[in-house]
Amino acid sequence: MARLNLDGKTIPMMSICMIGGGGFIGSHLCEKLVAETNHKAVVVDVSSEKIDHLLDRSLPWAHRIEFHQLNIKSDSRLETLIKSTDLTINLAAICTPADYNTRPLDTIYSNFVDSIPVIKYCTENKKRLIHFSTCEVYGKTIGSFLPQEFRKDPKYFILKEDESPCIFGPINKQRWSYACAKQMTDRLIYAEYAENGLDFTIVRPYNWIGPRMDFIPGVDGPSDGVPRVLACFSNSLLRGEPLKLVDGGKSQRTFLYIKDAIDAVALMIDNPEKANGYIFNVGNPDNEVSVKELAELMIKAYAKVSGAPASSMSTVNVSSEDFYGKGYDDSDRRIPDMTFITRQLAWKPRTPLDELLDVTLQYQHRTYSRAIERELSKPTN
Ligand code: NAD
Repeated sequence: MARLNLDGKTIPMMSICMIGGGGFIGSHLCEKLVAETNHKAVVVDVSSEKIDHLLDRSLPWAHRIEFHQLNIKSDSRLETLIKSTDLTINLAAICTPADYNTRPLDTIYSNFVDSIPVIKYCTENKKRLIHFSTCEVYGKTIGSFLPQEFRKDPKYFILKEDESPCIFGPINKQRWSYACAKQMTDRLIYAEYAENGLDFTIVRPYNWIGPRMDFIPGVDGPSDGVPRVLACFSNSLLRGEPLKLVDGGKSQRTFLYIKDAIDAVALMIDNPEKANGYIFNVGNPDNEVSVKELAELMIKAYAKVSGAPASSMSTVNVSSEDFYGKGYDDSDRRIPDMTFITRQLAWKPRTPLDELLDVTLQYQHRTYSRAIERELSKPTN
């Protein structure tokens, strides 16, 4: 049966060049595209590890997914792939906070310089672009600069795509290298739209989490690597170590289940008339907790999954300088305004935080607990 878009029109089959499509978000988007649409995914990434389960040539969708192993920094095949597909989705990035102040050059090149050719090829070849930005582009909130008595009012923390300013710390706080590079990319895309008619959609994810996010250090990533908070806390739970709360885990964040998020991206893909020319916040304001509360919820969920008592799991405070090194900084709170995405795409998040943590920790336990047990049982020299 033909699939219909929000205007009741048949959705045409599209070929989609997914740059960075082998990562966390890309892997879930690929699953959705092959299983629920008739679109074709042309995946570009340096690694296919997270989508290998979709690439087996015996699978029914084998003719609708292909993988091109290439580094977009230095590969002339990129332009050909963008030219030969209908839509480009750019997900490629260095996007782990531990890198922003320790590898600022790689962060800036990856999030700004490397997207310049992608944007140029889309404009020159009149191809539609869905680009992944970040909620970090908003930087710090107005609320964080106000006297304490004003800080409770959510209006100082709610971030609106076309109204909120982008407020970063000083240059020596290199944490902002990521946000600033992403902002420049957003501005370049917007300028191409304004001057050259580029058809664009910018997505601003707010902490999308779920299975396959990042890596577990020492198992499927470097043992000294520092992934994003979900994988950091999962790693501590799997190893029976205290969960490290940076500066007491006071920062508040909203968390969105990856499957809900992918539904929003699919709506953007299938409804260009409603998505082109817009920037969309994609988050779940109902799932707001402090990082400390997130740690406590993850302890509760992991106790259920692993059978170990929650009392055997704990948290410990660490300073941001000890954890992330010099030049780290943070935003106190970020709440997405959802007016735009609800109006344009009739999308709303569905999954509450406790449910999404249950699913995710079941996955982490199933995928990693044996490998960690083996590692921990090895004799130390
Ligand atoms: P991810 O790290 O899992 O995926 C990024 C992918 O890009 C990786 O597979 C990586 O190998 C690939 N890549 C990076 N540089 C490349 C290059 N030069 N050539 C080819 N491939 C390259 O990250 P993710 O969570 O899937 O995020 C995807 C996008 O969404 C990023 O732009 C990120 O900044 C943005 N984002 C994500 C979140 C979130 O909640 N997950 C939040 C804010 C922004």
